[in-house]
Amino acid sequence: MTDVVTRFAPSPTGHLHLGHAHSALFGWTAARKAGGRFLLRIEDIDPQRCRPEFDRALCEDLAWLGLTWEEPVRRQSEHLDDYRAALARLGGLGTAYPCFCTRKDIAAEIARAGHAPHGPDGPLYPGTCRGLSDLERRDRIAAGEAYALRLNVEKAMAMTGPLRWHDRRRGWQDATPGILGDVVLARKDAPTSYHLAVTVDDHLQGVTLVTRGEDLFFATHVHRLLQELLRVGPPDYEHHPLLVNERGERLAKRDNAKTLRSLRELGQTAAAVRALAGFPEEL
Ligand code: GLU
Repeated sequence: MTDVVTRFAPSPTGHLHLGHAHSALFGWTAARKAGGRFLLRIEDIDPQRCRPEFDRALCEDLAWLGLTWEEPVRRQSEHLDDYRAALARLGGLGTAYPCFCTRKDIAAEIARAGHAPHGPDGPLYPGTCRGLSDLERRDRIAAGEAYALRLNVEKAMAMTGPLRWHDRRRGWQDATPGILGDVVLARKDAPTSYHLAVTVDDHLQGVTLVTRGEDLFFATHVHRLLQELLRVGPPDYEHHPLLVNERGERLAKRDNAKTLRSLRELGQTAAAVRALAGFPEEL
């Protein structure tokens, strides 16, 4: 039987809250029950929002909670060459294209079109730069215009054919990556995006079971397509329901009262916080 390898992959953009504790304990417990391994990955590719002090704090909070993980911790910012290599492969397949749009351009295009296909996270990228000629692309890049790289989902799907992936809760899924539109593969300020980095890292770290919140269920459709283009994976998945507050709203980093450190400072024990996060069992 293959070893079960799970991971927790927070972004150091704020302090961890109970929702993160739930997700971390979920992955940790899944590995523990299967006699497998649990890894930690710091998703710190966003230079505007990620801060080293949050990275240190989250490792401290997880250890306080009683979790242990295998070293080394993978920090995405230290592995940009891995993402560049994956991008080169996707570029070589002709499935990535430069997108020069700003957020404002995208909003204006959506308003102009009068309607826009919506995905689970809002309106989809309207495809403005998908049809640019090679000449225009070259000229704009040569002129120093900033650009992101996007995945041409339709073209990529035509290359791979139908794909499926497995969720332990919801069973087999037909991959429908178009649901998120032509997602970004490399940001203007980083040689990767969340989608690309996660796909590459889960493969390179040997993750066999991706456990994460249901909010990322649709992202998995895209990851499945990227795996096929990169000829890696796929792992098994389990998307867990998100913890909600008394008002039924999903916990967010701005919910300061619920950070693990504030609970600790209020005198809560690690066992009590684990219970609040839905894991009342002894570790
Ligand atoms: N870094 C992502 C987040 O904090 C989680 C990524 C994942 O588990 O795939 O929401």
